[in-house]
Amino acid sequence: SAGAPYVGRFAPSPTGPLHAGSLVAALASWLDARAHGGQWLVRIEDVDTPRCVPGADTLILQQLATCGLYPDAPPLWQSHRGDRYQAALDRLIAQGTAYGCACTRSDIARANAELGRIKPRHGDLVYPGTCRPDHTGLRGRAPRAWRVSVPQGAAGHWLWVDRRLGPQSQQLDEAVGDFVVRRADGLWAYQLAVVVDDAEQGITDVVRGEDLADNTPRQMWLQQQLGWPHPRYLHTPLVMGDNGEKLSKQNGAAALALDDPLDALRRAGAVLGLSAVAGGTVSEWLGAAIPAWRARLACWASSAPRAETIA
Ligand code: GLU
Repeated sequence: SAGAPYVGRFAPSPTGPLHAGSLVAALASWLDARAHGGQWLVRIEDVDTPRCVPGADTLILQQLATCGLYPDAPPLWQSHRGDRYQAALDRLIAQGTAYGCACTRSDIARANAELGRIKPRHGDLVYPGTCRPDHTGLRGRAPRAWRVSVPQGAAGHWLWVDRRLGPQSQQLDEAVGDFVVRRADGLWAYQLAVVVDDAEQGITDVVRGEDLADNTPRQMWLQQQLGWPHPRYLHTPLVMGDNGEKLSKQNGAAALALDDPLDALRRAGAVLGLSAVAGGTVSEWLGAAIPAWRARLACWASSAPRAETIA
């Protein structure tokens, strides 16, 4: 469809090969780009170097190609882009949004215990703001990590509309608090890298797994602080493993086999509600899936929006 330019992306972390769950996000982002007559980019998110597996990037690109999913421009590697992340951090520091933090994990645990807060079952303790310039500040201690301060109260009540999930909200200061943009080990945090790259690659639409939905307000907050436009967001259904948890490399998801890509696409399509798509080859199936995806979009857009609070 002609009209507004569209740039989408698939942003895998090369911590292992693609599995049935990550193919769903890859396929959905590709279909959405094709359905909008847009561009589809691939970005290798290899900032968390200790978790990256050598060769996994090449394998992922091969798996995508076997499934007929070819990026419209050469892939980008985040590990080459430290200077861009530093430039963004420098701006955040200069405008007073980012601050150095000297707290260790046990400092944070102790400060939270003093406030009577316990560690949530999912996720981390909220940072109590100890090193904020308007609190105690660094008091001569060396910064270990860099954090951004999130707004509190009404200003921290973040509202956004997901193209599939409908209206969403998150109270930034209570759900996540001041979050890390550069880690104590010197590595760039996902939140900052993804925002810099989405902006610099001109991404208009982020399509990714629903497990990442609760990162969206943090990323939109950074976009706002850096004066960048917000992309639209669509979070896809997750593939559940036999244990009832999200399929992931951590819980032993099998690598996507390269011998039957059509079967892999059919399975990924079924998760997206595209079971009726027919095609005897990878390219036939993909071609037929594009109009089917448009129909899914229309269905998500018209279904009564469910208001959800993500904690
Ligand atoms: N690299 C992230 C992951 O593999 C995805 C980031 C994103 O799509 O925003 O989980």
